[in-house]
Amino acid sequence: MSSSHINAATPVPSFADLGVPSELIKILEQRRITVPLPVQIVTFGEAVAGKDLAARAPTGSGKTLAFGLPMISRLSHDKMRSPTGLILAPTRELAAQISNELSPLAVARNLRVQSFYGGVGFSAQLRSLRKGTDIAVACPGRLEDLMRSGRIQLGGVKMVVVDEADRMADMGFLPAVRGILDAIKEDHQTLLFSATLDNDVKVIMDSYQHNPTYYEIDLDDESKRRITHQFHIVEQAERTALCAKLISAQSSTVVFVRTKHGADRLAKQLSHQGINAAAIHGDLTQNQRERALTAFRKGTVQTLVATDVAARGVHVDDVGCVIHYDLPENAKSYLHRSGRTARAGAKGTVVALVTPKQRAMAKNIKSTLKLNAEFIGDFPSRKPTRKRDALFVSATPRAQLPGTPK
Ligand code: ADP
Ligand code: MG
Repeated sequence: MSSSHINAATPVPSFADLGVPSELIKILEQRRITVPLPVQIVTFGEAVAGKDLAARAPTGSGKTLAFGLPMISRLSHDKMRSPTGLILAPTRELAAQISNELSPLAVARNLRVQSFYGGVGFSAQLRSLRKGTDIAVACPGRLEDLMRSGRIQLGGVKMVVVDEADRMADMGFLPAVRGILDAIKEDHQTLLFSATLDNDVKVIMDSYQHNPTYYEIDLDDESKRRITHQFHIVEQAERTALCAKLISAQSSTVVFVRTKHGADRLAKQLSHQGINAAAIHGDLTQNQRERALTAFRKGTVQTLVATDVAARGVHVDDVGCVIHYDLPENAKSYLHRSGRTARAGAKGTVVALVTPKQRAMAKNIKSTLKLNAEFIGDFPSRKPTRKRDALFVSATPRAQLPGTPK
């Protein structure tokens, strides 16, 4: 396994320099995407040449186009119009997003993209299979269903992408992913993308990739500086009021809570305070979730109150602020939640609300991630002090999670 690094001193090539077909470049330009991002630069050549590769790159670094562009450039449709490309994604929202982002590009090359996920009926997905689907973007569970019932043929698949491989592992999808990869014939190309790389992910690389090139892309210092991290110390009962105040100062905010019930309750409480908020969690139907996301994207809803699972992989442009209303379970989750803001070089603020009891937990997250964030307000000593409105302090995350390979 070889590895490759890119840094600020590397001259930036254009999409044309990389060999991206001109009809795709035209569509990218309509979306004002004109300069390739690092992960796209380093992976395009090998991916389009059919080589296996694995890339660890942070959230928001442009991984979708890093696998989407070479896939669309390289594949053609087979006679049966059964899939020649397969993208595996851990959540419905992510599958839908990938499919939406890649569809117009694929159409320009006469390829059809369709997403396959549970929670919605089979009929539209089956209709699209009958019509012909060249690139399938699928969640493992629904894909297994379709495979078992013989309604999708993967015999012609030449290129497979495992996106958010770390999430797949977290969500317990690795056995399903392995089953799917086992069922596709041996000589396909496999690309693997992940925000973190730990043993579960390495197992997939070892079992299914041939001599993969391994790429590691870190945020350069400039984009790191774009995120401001704040830890606010606040009494349990005062979190909602502080949250409302923080949201009012932002254009759009994603608030993370621990439970579905908590999400509903907080969305309601915020609405009472005049903030347009919608909850998004696993008890909502797929339709309800999509409606909330669309309203948020359009700006009719300013705040999304989300549970972790519901928010995984969700991409919305211009999220100005992420609030950890309930502290995340661990540093990894903090990183993933916080990745909803400051995507693709934009600016963002991340605020964690820390109750006095959560002091140790918060300090642990801060030190694990080597965040330069200061605590705002004091932890109460015996005599409680109230300094909650002290100045915000900005910070730079100095490192990725420890333990990821260098
Ligand atoms: P990741 O999968 O790494 O979390 P995404 O692929 O979702 O990140 O990309 C994040 C955002 O950046 C998307 O809105 C995407 O359209 C945008 N983007 C991707 N590539 C570029 C680029 N070369 N220039 C500008 N924006 C880009
Ligand atoms: Mg992604």
